[in-house]
Amino acid sequence: MRACYAGRPPKNLTMAENETPVLRFAPSPTGFLHIGGARTALFNWLYARHTGGKFLLRIEDTDRQRSTEAAIAAILDGLSWLELNWDGEPVYQYARAARHREIAEQLLAEGHAYRCYATPAELEEMRTKQRAEGKPMRYDGRWRDRDPSEAPPDASFVIRLKAPRSGETIVHDVVQGDVRFANENLDDMVLLRSDGTPTYMLAVVVDDYDMGITHIIRGDDHLNNAARQLQLIHALDWPVPIYGHLPLIHGPDGAKLSKRHGALAVDAYRDMGYVPEAMRNYLLRLGWSHGNDEIISTEQAIAWFDLEHIGRSPSRFDFKKLDNLNAHYLRATPDAELAKEVEALLERMQPPQSLSGVARTRLQALMPALKERVKTLIELATAADFLYADGPPALDTQAEKALTPDARKLLRDDVLPAFEKSEWRAETLEAAARSLAERLGMKLGQVAQPIRAAVTGKTSSPPIFEVLAVVGKEESLARLRAYAG
Ligand code: GLU
Repeated sequence: MRACYAGRPPKNLTMAENETPVLRFAPSPTGFLHIGGARTALFNWLYARHTGGKFLLRIEDTDRQRSTEAAIAAILDGLSWLELNWDGEPVYQYARAARHREIAEQLLAEGHAYRCYATPAELEEMRTKQRAEGKPMRYDGRWRDRDPSEAPPDASFVIRLKAPRSGETIVHDVVQGDVRFANENLDDMVLLRSDGTPTYMLAVVVDDYDMGITHIIRGDDHLNNAARQLQLIHALDWPVPIYGHLPLIHGPDGAKLSKRHGALAVDAYRDMGYVPEAMRNYLLRLGWSHGNDEIISTEQAIAWFDLEHIGRSPSRFDFKKLDNLNAHYLRATPDAELAKEVEALLERMQPPQSLSGVARTRLQALMPALKERVKTLIELATAADFLYADGPPALDTQAEKALTPDARKLLRDDVLPAFEKSEWRAETLEAAARSLAERLGMKLGQVAQPIRAAVTGKTSSPPIFEVLAVVGKEESLARLRAYAG
């Protein structure tokens, strides 16, 4: 039995030197861009940017029933948010149906495909029989060598590939190694349906060829498809792309990723307050490694990314890691930029909130301290909410508890008189609070906590004396008075 080498032998897993890599992301707009798709897009994008190649986008909208405009918009939006910019205009697969048909006709003319007139009832009968015999369900090739003139006049037909019946189809995969498929297990797949529409398998192969795709990096749920696509590529005598099938992403418990684990649409991550650079770093580490490096900037990722270090085992989704990376990138973001992000987030909220000039200045001034303590933009926006409007802040439960009658009395009798005559700087205010605490035989924290509760509405905040300086004398005193008892 001859092995049909339906892929490049492993030693040829590098391209000719003069060939520029062309990669693509080919989502089906039947749902939103989820975390697995985003990782696939990222890996393709990184490899294209690393090699100076191209990253193309193809919207596989051939499933007319399930493809929606909203999903297309969400995919484009998700990629844009992740800053995975594609080269040129997106290609829409459905618009290329005539070209797909042309190739099916060409295969037919060349004898690599044939018309199959089997009726749905016949196919059903075939399946029932196979099922009863415990055999895998496969088209039995009944029209493969039959003369089409034997078909009843005007009978409708599909076009099927005349696939090799013996030997193997081997997918040489940069991630999975050689994956072998016995050809006898791959039946003659349909290329063109009886209504003349191309099948997904045909469309993918033709589009990849026409777009000059050299590397196909995608989820390993497409590994079986790769074998079938290779048979088609061989029939057409087209160049075989380099394949890399990425292991699936699992939940932290090792089970298949579900919504509960984080299998959410990419925009959900934006809404949860994650920043694109953290997402890119996180998705990169979800299946690719560079020694023990966890924090990998996009610049480094472009410089280092390769196909050799894609992991072979499923990676596990872990919100804690994502949080840590996000906290890192938030801290690394310049204050003014971060303040803008918070503003943009507030404007997206329901109801939208816009900041006054004063609030914006306060937010920027306190940003160095605020960003040290948070993991997401949402946490940041919440931690800073006492800066947005004048007037006493709403108290959270803890702050409510902290403002006991004694604490309120302390504000009225001791804190306010001391602060009213203090110079309004963090250092002087702290000194005033310290001497007050000493005089009363209290710890500084015992004095600071009711101040914090009254001014921020919370029991944890950036250093309170910095907060007071940023909020300003008049406004801080007004808040202290509001909660003084
Ligand atoms: N449209 C397919 C999907 O969304 C991907 C096809 C491919 O990458 O070849 O799963």
